[in-house]
Amino acid sequence: MPQDWTEKLLHWYRQHKRDLPWRRTSDPYAIWVSEIMLQQTTVEAVIPYYERFLKRFPTVKALAEGPEEDVLKLWSGLGYYSRARNLHKAAGMLTGDFPDTVEALMVLPGIGRYTAGAIASIAFGKRAPIVDGNVIRVLSRLFLISEDPKSSAGQKIFWKKAEEVLPHKHLGDFNQALMELGATVCSPENPACLICPVSEDCRARHEGRPEDYPTPKKKTEYRDVLMSAAVVEERGRILFLKRPATGLLKGMWELPMVEGDVATLVKRWDVSVLKPLPTVRHSVLNRRLKITPFLCSLPKRPWKSDAGEPERRWLTISETAELATSSMNRKILKHLKG
Ligand code: SF4
Repeated sequence: MPQDWTEKLLHWYRQHKRDLPWRRTSDPYAIWVSEIMLQQTTVEAVIPYYERFLKRFPTVKALAEGPEEDVLKLWSGLGYYSRARNLHKAAGMLTGDFPDTVEALMVLPGIGRYTAGAIASIAFGKRAPIVDGNVIRVLSRLFLISEDPKSSAGQKIFWKKAEEVLPHKHLGDFNQALMELGATVCSPENPACLICPVSEDCRARHEGRPEDYPTPKKKTEYRDVLMSAAVVEERGRILFLKRPATGLLKGMWELPMVEGDVATLVKRWDVSVLKPLPTVRHSVLNRRLKITPFLCSLPKRPWKSDAGEPERRWLTISETAELATSSMNRKILKHLKG
């Protein structure tokens, strides 16, 4: 039977790991795609996106040669679209063998130390640590590390500890096992210590206060934002506008909308309001958005909005399934469908 805690963890991982699509491959490209998608997104949400993405872009070359709009379409609804743009841009920079060291991987846009460590260890078996929220939780409890993981001193301590604990072999499995323990057993509240494979070695458990680790985060301060959107419908088609090529959600499609009330919407987009539609709520970072869509029509005279002449498309609801648009727009469209 395994004795050392790292061996116990590895043994547990092999018995209990979730069967996830990116765990059935050692292709660095597929692992890279999964790691990027999993940033700020849950495993359950990522699985269908990952499968569609790999089907459409099965190789780095296919991704590099694909148009950005197709990449964004496949990402539509996952959020944080700069991840998709960076992935596409990085694919275009890759010629020859896939980089297999943390240093070489970190040269690519969108790949930080965590993602580089994950690819290097999982796909190439390299001795590279990884630190994410799950790893921080497990390490802080196992070793009673009380530094704030958000501080630069805390970051240094967690990266150092994640490197120190790496075993001599099975580096990829070990890193994944740490994350898996954090994701499925060592949860932020009510960790399942009774079934934890390393409970005997866990100092926070011995102290009887695992939930005190890691140091509790400061509460996010949310800002409530009121928005209005125009659902302009003509002959069963809805008007979509392309966002500018720079700034937030650049190049994606959306309904005409504003931050503000219906009067601001009318002024900016030169629309006539017919009736309000059900309100939609959506959170982005620390902003809690309350969006009221309005069924609208365009004036009979030539339409000239306050925002100039953005590129337009008229689409049926079913055609919007293929549109590169944000999760917030999807929520509004979902209400229109149903
Ligand atoms: Fe987490 Fe409990 Fe396991 Fe410690 S014993 S690592 S607190 S689940």
